[in-house]
Amino acid sequence: MTFTLARRSNELVFRPARLVSRTFLADDYVRLRLEGEALEGFDSPGADDHIRVFFPDADAAALTVDELRAAPSREYTPLSWDGAGVLELEFLVHGDEGVAGRWAADAPIGASVGVGGPRGSMAVEGEPEAWFLAGDETALPAIRRLLGGMPRGARGLVVLEASGAGEEYALETPEGVRVEWLPRAAAGAGASAALIARLDALGADDRPTGDVFVFVAAEQAVVKPGRALLARWGVDPERAVVKGYWRRGDAEYHAPH
Ligand SMILES: Cc1cc2nc3c(=O)[nH]c(=O)nc-3n(C[C@H](O)[C@H](O)[C@H](O)COP(=O)(O)OP(=O)(O)OC[C@H]3O[C@@H](n4cnc5c(N)ncnc54)[C@H](O)[C@@H]3O)c2cc1C
Repeated sequence: MTFTLARRSNELVFRPARLVSRTFLADDYVRLRLEGEALEGFDSPGADDHIRVFFPDADAAALTVDELRAAPSREYTPLSWDGAGVLELEFLVHGDEGVAGRWAADAPIGASVGVGGPRGSMAVEGEPEAWFLAGDETALPAIRRLLGGMPRGARGLVVLEASGAGEEYALETPEGVRVEWLPRAAAGAGASAALIARLDALGADDRPTGDVFVFVAAEQAVVKPGRALLARWGVDPERAVVKGYWRRGDAEYHAPH
Protein backbone atom coordinates (compact mmCIF):
# COMPACT_ATOMS: atom_id res chain seq x y z
CA MET A 1 0.00 0.00 0.00
CA THR A 2 1.45 3.34 -1.04
CA PHE A 3 -1.11 5.54 0.71
CA THR A 4 -3.70 5.59 3.47
CA LEU A 5 -6.72 7.77 4.14
CA ALA A 6 -6.31 9.40 7.54
CA ARG A 7 -9.54 10.55 9.16
CA ARG A 8 -9.70 12.98 12.07
CA SER A 9 -12.22 15.22 13.74
CA ASN A 10 -11.59 18.91 14.33
CA GLU A 11 -12.83 21.31 16.95
CA LEU A 12 -16.01 22.90 15.57
CA VAL A 13 -15.51 26.67 15.30
CA PHE A 14 -17.94 29.29 13.88
CA ARG A 15 -16.42 32.37 12.30
CA PRO A 16 -18.01 35.52 10.85
CA ALA A 17 -16.52 36.75 7.56
CA ARG A 18 -17.24 39.21 4.76
CA LEU A 19 -17.31 38.88 1.00
CA VAL A 20 -14.44 40.94 -0.41
CA SER A 21 -14.22 39.89 -4.05
CA ARG A 22 -15.87 37.83 -6.75
CA THR A 23 -14.39 36.47 -9.98
CA PHE A 24 -16.49 34.59 -12.51
CA LEU A 25 -14.41 31.81 -14.12
CA ALA A 26 -17.32 30.62 -16.29
CA ASP A 27 -20.84 32.03 -16.80
CA ASP A 28 -22.14 29.95 -13.90
CA TYR A 29 -19.04 29.38 -11.79
CA VAL A 30 -17.58 31.91 -9.42
CA ARG A 31 -14.61 32.19 -7.08
CA LEU A 32 -15.23 34.23 -3.91
CA ARG A 33 -12.78 35.65 -1.44
CA LEU A 34 -13.90 36.00 2.17
CA GLU A 35 -12.03 37.88 4.83
CA GLY A 36 -12.39 38.31 8.56
CA GLU A 37 -10.24 38.41 11.65
CA ALA A 38 -12.07 35.34 12.91
CA LEU A 39 -10.62 33.36 9.98
CA GLU A 40 -7.21 33.60 11.60
CA GLY A 41 -6.17 30.06 12.46
CA PHE A 42 -8.63 28.53 9.97
CA ASP A 43 -7.33 25.22 8.65
CA SER A 44 -8.64 22.41 6.47
CA PRO A 45 -6.41 19.34 6.38
CA GLY A 46 -8.48 17.23 3.95
CA ALA A 47 -9.02 17.92 0.22
CA ASP A 48 -12.74 17.11 0.34
CA ASP A 49 -13.41 18.77 3.69
CA HIS A 50 -16.53 20.81 3.81
CA ILE A 51 -17.41 23.87 5.77
CA ARG A 52 -20.94 25.05 6.37
CA VAL A 53 -21.52 28.55 5.05
CA PHE A 54 -24.32 30.41 6.87
CA PHE A 55 -26.31 33.18 5.21
CA PRO A 56 -27.90 35.28 8.00
CA ASP A 57 -30.04 38.40 7.40
CA ALA A 58 -28.00 40.27 10.02
CA ASP A 59 -24.28 40.82 10.59
CA ALA A 60 -22.90 37.36 11.48
CA ALA A 61 -20.39 38.96 13.87
CA ALA A 62 -23.28 40.27 15.99
CA LEU A 63 -25.03 36.89 16.28
CA THR A 64 -24.68 34.15 18.87
CA VAL A 65 -23.68 30.72 17.58
CA ASP A 66 -27.28 29.54 18.03
CA GLU A 67 -28.62 32.51 16.05
CA LEU A 68 -26.08 31.90 13.31
CA ARG A 69 -26.97 28.20 13.20
CA ALA A 70 -30.61 29.11 12.71
CA ALA A 71 -29.77 30.90 9.42
CA PRO A 72 -29.89 29.01 6.09
CA SER A 73 -26.60 27.21 5.41
CA ARG A 74 -24.98 25.02 2.74
CA GLU A 75 -21.81 22.93 2.43
CA TYR A 76 -18.73 24.15 0.52
CA THR A 77 -15.12 23.06 0.09
CA PRO A 78 -12.42 25.39 1.41
CA LEU A 79 -10.34 26.04 -1.72
CA SER A 80 -7.51 28.06 -0.23
CA TRP A 81 -6.80 30.04 2.94
CA ASP A 82 -3.85 31.75 4.53
CA GLY A 83 -4.65 31.16 8.20
CA ALA A 84 -4.42 34.93 8.67
CA GLY A 85 -7.94 36.01 7.73
CA VAL A 86 -8.51 35.00 4.09
CA LEU A 87 -10.58 32.10 2.73
CA GLU A 88 -11.43 31.37 -0.92
CA LEU A 89 -14.36 29.27 -2.12
CA GLU A 90 -15.83 28.39 -5.51
CA PHE A 91 -19.57 28.14 -6.16
CA LEU A 92 -21.62 26.74 -8.99
CA VAL A 93 -24.49 29.12 -9.73
CA HIS A 94 -27.22 26.70 -10.76
CA GLY A 95 -30.22 28.48 -12.26
CA ASP A 96 -32.35 30.77 -10.15
CA GLU A 97 -32.74 28.37 -7.28
CA GLY A 98 -30.63 27.94 -4.22
CA VAL A 99 -29.75 30.23 -1.34
CA ALA A 100 -26.02 29.65 -1.72
CA GLY A 101 -25.77 29.71 -5.50
CA ARG A 102 -27.72 32.98 -5.70
CA TRP A 103 -25.77 34.53 -2.83
CA ALA A 104 -22.52 33.66 -4.58
CA ALA A 105 -23.68 35.39 -7.76
CA ASP A 106 -25.50 38.42 -6.34
CA ALA A 107 -24.52 39.32 -2.76
CA PRO A 108 -23.02 42.79 -2.47
CA ILE A 109 -19.32 43.07 -1.71
CA GLY A 110 -19.11 43.43 2.07
CA ALA A 111 -22.00 40.99 2.69
CA SER A 112 -21.74 39.03 5.91
CA VAL A 113 -21.59 35.22 6.21
CA GLY A 114 -20.70 32.68 8.87
CA VAL A 115 -18.33 29.78 8.36
CA GLY A 116 -18.60 26.64 10.49
CA GLY A 117 -16.08 23.79 10.42
CA PRO A 118 -14.58 21.79 8.88
CA ARG A 119 -15.80 19.41 11.55
CA GLY A 120 -13.97 16.38 10.16
CA SER A 121 -11.14 15.84 7.69
CA MET A 122 -9.80 13.03 5.61
CA ALA A 123 -6.32 13.39 4.14
CA VAL A 124 -4.50 11.21 1.63
CA GLU A 125 -1.25 10.30 3.35
CA GLY A 126 1.59 8.82 1.35
CA GLU A 127 1.77 8.76 -2.46
CA PRO A 128 -0.76 6.85 -4.54
CA GLU A 129 0.84 5.26 -7.61
CA ALA A 130 -2.01 6.64 -9.73
CA TRP A 131 -5.00 8.97 -9.36
CA PHE A 132 -8.50 8.81 -10.79
CA LEU A 133 -10.59 11.88 -9.97
CA ALA A 134 -14.08 12.47 -11.35
CA GLY A 135 -16.79 15.00 -10.62
CA ASP A 136 -18.84 18.00 -11.65
CA GLU A 137 -18.26 21.68 -10.80
CA THR A 138 -19.24 21.14 -7.15
CA ALA A 139 -16.26 18.77 -6.83
CA LEU A 140 -13.87 21.04 -8.69
CA PRO A 141 -12.51 22.75 -5.53
CA ALA A 142 -11.79 19.35 -3.95
CA ILE A 143 -10.19 18.14 -7.20
CA ARG A 144 -8.06 21.32 -7.38
CA ARG A 145 -6.86 20.58 -3.87
CA LEU A 146 -6.06 16.95 -4.65
CA LEU A 147 -4.15 18.06 -7.77
CA GLY A 148 -2.32 20.71 -5.75
CA GLY A 149 -1.14 18.08 -3.28
CA MET A 150 0.23 15.69 -5.92
CA PRO A 151 3.95 15.22 -6.43
CA ARG A 152 5.32 16.50 -9.72
CA GLY A 153 5.69 13.00 -11.17
CA ALA A 154 2.09 11.98 -10.41
CA ARG A 155 0.11 10.17 -13.10
CA GLY A 156 -3.61 9.87 -13.45
CA LEU A 157 -6.86 10.84 -15.10
CA VAL A 158 -9.33 13.58 -14.16
CA VAL A 159 -12.84 13.48 -15.64
CA LEU A 160 -14.98 16.59 -15.16
CA GLU A 161 -18.52 17.34 -16.27
CA ALA A 162 -19.10 21.08 -16.54
CA SER A 163 -21.29 23.51 -18.42
CA GLY A 164 -18.40 25.79 -19.43
CA ALA A 165 -15.43 25.11 -21.70
CA GLY A 166 -12.63 23.30 -19.86
CA GLU A 167 -10.00 26.02 -20.21
CA GLU A 168 -12.22 28.53 -18.38
CA TYR A 169 -11.69 26.74 -15.09
CA ALA A 170 -7.89 27.18 -15.11
CA LEU A 171 -7.16 23.72 -13.77
CA GLU A 172 -3.48 23.09 -13.11
CA THR A 173 -2.25 19.52 -13.33
CA PRO A 174 1.07 17.70 -13.15
CA GLU A 175 2.31 16.65 -16.60
CA GLY A 176 1.37 12.99 -16.14
CA VAL A 177 -2.26 13.75 -15.27
CA ARG A 178 -4.69 13.94 -18.20
CA VAL A 179 -7.96 15.90 -17.97
CA GLU A 180 -11.12 15.00 -19.87
CA TRP A 181 -13.82 17.70 -19.91
CA LEU A 182 -17.33 16.40 -20.53
CA PRO A 183 -19.99 18.87 -21.68
CA ARG A 184 -23.07 18.74 -19.46
CA ALA A 185 -25.77 16.49 -20.93
CA ALA A 186 -28.99 18.08 -22.25
CA ALA A 187 -31.47 19.26 -19.62
CA GLY A 188 -33.78 16.26 -20.10
CA ALA A 189 -31.04 13.75 -19.20
CA GLY A 190 -30.57 12.65 -15.60
CA ALA A 191 -28.31 14.67 -13.27
CA SER A 192 -24.60 14.01 -13.84
CA ALA A 193 -25.63 11.95 -16.91
CA ALA A 194 -22.48 12.64 -18.93
CA LEU A 195 -20.23 11.73 -16.03
CA ILE A 196 -22.20 8.58 -15.24
CA ALA A 197 -22.01 7.45 -18.88
CA ARG A 198 -18.24 7.96 -18.81
CA LEU A 199 -17.83 6.02 -15.56
CA ASP A 200 -19.98 3.18 -16.92
CA ALA A 201 -17.82 3.03 -20.04
CA LEU A 202 -14.60 2.50 -18.07
CA GLY A 203 -13.78 -1.21 -18.12
CA ALA A 204 -11.34 -3.29 -16.12
CA ASP A 205 -8.74 -2.63 -18.86
CA ASP A 206 -8.92 1.12 -18.22
CA ARG A 207 -7.78 0.72 -14.63
CA PRO A 208 -4.68 2.80 -13.95
CA THR A 209 -1.95 0.39 -12.92
CA GLY A 210 -0.69 0.32 -9.36
CA ASP A 211 -2.19 1.43 -6.08
CA VAL A 212 -4.77 3.92 -7.37
CA PHE A 213 -6.65 6.53 -5.33
CA VAL A 214 -10.19 7.04 -6.66
CA PHE A 215 -12.29 10.12 -5.89
CA VAL A 216 -15.78 10.55 -7.39
CA ALA A 217 -18.23 13.30 -6.36
CA ALA A 218 -21.20 14.86 -8.16
CA GLU A 219 -24.99 14.51 -7.99
CA GLN A 220 -26.11 11.64 -5.74
CA ALA A 221 -26.85 9.36 -8.74
CA VAL A 222 -23.08 9.09 -9.31
CA VAL A 223 -22.64 6.94 -6.20
CA LYS A 224 -23.94 3.70 -7.72
CA PRO A 225 -21.82 3.79 -10.90
CA GLY A 226 -18.88 5.09 -8.82
CA ARG A 227 -19.08 2.06 -6.53
CA ALA A 228 -19.52 -0.27 -9.49
CA LEU A 229 -16.31 1.16 -10.96
CA LEU A 230 -14.46 0.47 -7.69
CA ALA A 231 -15.68 -3.13 -7.87
CA ARG A 232 -14.58 -3.52 -11.53
CA TRP A 233 -11.19 -2.10 -10.68
CA GLY A 234 -10.77 -4.11 -7.48
CA VAL A 235 -10.38 -0.95 -5.38
CA ASP A 236 -11.21 -1.18 -1.67
CA PRO A 237 -14.09 1.31 -1.02
CA GLU A 238 -12.49 2.13 2.34
CA ARG A 239 -9.50 3.56 0.45
CA ALA A 240 -11.56 5.60 -2.00
CA VAL A 241 -14.07 8.47 -1.87
CA VAL A 242 -17.38 8.13 -3.73
CA LYS A 243 -19.92 10.75 -2.64
CA GLY A 244 -23.07 12.57 -3.60
CA TYR A 245 -22.34 16.30 -3.21
CA TRP A 246 -25.93 17.35 -3.99
CA ARG A 247 -29.25 15.80 -4.88
CA ARG A 248 -31.58 16.89 -7.65
CA GLY A 249 -34.82 18.31 -6.22
CA ASP A 250 -33.42 18.38 -2.69
CA ALA A 251 -32.55 21.75 -1.14
CA GLU A 252 -30.21 21.76 1.87
CA TYR A 253 -28.76 18.37 0.99
CA HIS A 254 -26.48 17.08 3.75
CA ALA A 255 -23.42 15.10 2.86
CA PRO A 256 -23.27 11.64 4.38
CA HIS A 257 -20.32 11.43 6.79
C1 LIG B 1 -18.68 17.77 0.92
C2 LIG B 1 -19.33 18.76 -0.03
C3 LIG B 1 -18.59 19.77 -0.59
C4 LIG B 1 -19.19 20.65 -1.49
N1 LIG B 1 -18.42 21.63 -2.05
C5 LIG B 1 -18.97 22.46 -2.96
C6 LIG B 1 -18.17 23.50 -3.56
O1 LIG B 1 -17.02 23.72 -3.19
N2 LIG B 1 -18.76 24.27 -4.52
C7 LIG B 1 -20.07 24.07 -4.92
O2 LIG B 1 -20.56 24.79 -5.82
N3 LIG B 1 -20.85 23.13 -4.33
C8 LIG B 1 -20.33 22.34 -3.37
N4 LIG B 1 -21.11 21.38 -2.78
C9 LIG B 1 -22.51 21.23 -3.22
C10 LIG B 1 -23.44 22.24 -2.56
O3 LIG B 1 -23.41 22.07 -1.15
C11 LIG B 1 -24.88 21.96 -3.08
O4 LIG B 1 -24.94 22.10 -4.47
C12 LIG B 1 -25.91 22.86 -2.40
O5 LIG B 1 -27.16 22.21 -2.47
C13 LIG B 1 -26.03 24.23 -3.02
O6 LIG B 1 -26.91 25.00 -2.25
P1 LIG B 1 -27.96 26.03 -2.87
O7 LIG B 1 -28.48 26.83 -1.73
O8 LIG B 1 -27.31 26.75 -4.02
O9 LIG B 1 -29.09 25.09 -3.46
P2 LIG B 1 -30.23 24.32 -2.58
O10 LIG B 1 -31.12 25.31 -1.92
O11 LIG B 1 -29.55 23.32 -1.70
O12 LIG B 1 -31.04 23.57 -3.69
C14 LIG B 1 -32.07 24.21 -4.47
C15 LIG B 1 -32.32 23.38 -5.71
O13 LIG B 1 -31.15 23.40 -6.54
C16 LIG B 1 -30.73 22.08 -6.81
N5 LIG B 1 -29.25 22.01 -6.79
C17 LIG B 1 -28.41 22.03 -5.72
N6 LIG B 1 -27.11 21.93 -6.11
C18 LIG B 1 -27.16 21.86 -7.48
C19 LIG B 1 -26.16 21.73 -8.47
N7 LIG B 1 -24.85 21.65 -8.15
N8 LIG B 1 -26.55 21.70 -9.76
C20 LIG B 1 -27.86 21.76 -10.13
N9 LIG B 1 -28.86 21.87 -9.22
C21 LIG B 1 -28.52 21.92 -7.91
C22 LIG B 1 -31.31 21.21 -5.68
O14 LIG B 1 -31.48 19.89 -6.13
C23 LIG B 1 -32.62 21.92 -5.40
O15 LIG B 1 -33.61 21.48 -6.29
C24 LIG B 1 -20.54 20.51 -1.84
C25 LIG B 1 -21.30 19.51 -1.22
C26 LIG B 1 -20.72 18.65 -0.33
C27 LIG B 1 -21.57 17.59 0.28
